[in-house]
Amino acid sequence: MKFVGAHVSAAGGVENAPGRAEDIGAKAFALFTKNQRRWKSKPLSDENIAGFKEQVAALGFSMDYIIPHDSYLINLGHPEQDQLQKSRNAFLDEMKRCEQLGIKLLNFHPGSHLDKITPAECLQKNAESVNWALDQTEGVTAVFENTAGQGTNMGFKFEQLAEMIDQVEDKKRVGVCIDTCHAFAAGYDIRTREGLNKTFDEFDETVGLQYLKAMHLNDSKKELGSRVDRHESLGDGEIGVDAFRLIMQDERFDEIPLILETPNTERWPREIEMLYDFAGQDDR
Ligand SMILES: [Zn+2]
Ligand SMILES: [Zn+2]
Repeated sequence: MKFVGAHVSAAGGVENAPGRAEDIGAKAFALFTKNQRRWKSKPLSDENIAGFKEQVAALGFSMDYIIPHDSYLINLGHPEQDQLQKSRNAFLDEMKRCEQLGIKLLNFHPGSHLDKITPAECLQKNAESVNWALDQTEGVTAVFENTAGQGTNMGFKFEQLAEMIDQVEDKKRVGVCIDTCHAFAAGYDIRTREGLNKTFDEFDETVGLQYLKAMHLNDSKKELGSRVDRHESLGDGEIGVDAFRLIMQDERFDEIPLILETPNTERWPREIEMLYDFAGQDDR
């Protein structure tokens, strides 16, 4: 069974997100639990927390298919100690927000080395950051997202994801979210059945499919291997619609949240319907 949705707005409070996901026919969704462009946000109120849990239950969502995205400011591999600690504190706050909301997964991008430390040192800092946050929380899995490899951003090769996971102590609470746009931009050609199989065989060998906790389904404005992160609506980009049909018909991607981050939000209901059609499932 497939669980498809999109990254919906939490404007006005996190308790508004489930209704927005319901409106577009989603069975899964992502959200920001705080303002993603600021370091500090007010704590969640009891009303936010109770409202969110009520809406999730009332609308029939499962916490297994809700995966917030952390703030874009956070760099868990930052080369400078004070900046690294600032990022770690913000990440811990994000983990604790998930804990409060009963959410089991938190999606984040590995940090950047900024040309001040080696890639290996940066990967190590990322893993240490996750260890530090996992030690202080319960029940929330830290989910590394593969990146497009822009600038000095780490995590665009499966080997890098594997290297970080290797260094995380609690293997039960670490995972990976594969973003199709980022994978394609990083050089993984998922456009055909052969390409998709080769990519995920390689993922299984280097990282392990048991760590695949979510996917972001996005087409890509930029070409294969461009290392540039520009999402496009499904079928309008360089990846093309066939890849998404293949993904929806592939049981390796069952029972995980499959989240659209495509730019035209008005197309989400149709994109979600199309994906469920590909899977041969009625949408809800
Ligand atoms: Zn993504
Ligand atoms: Zn992206």
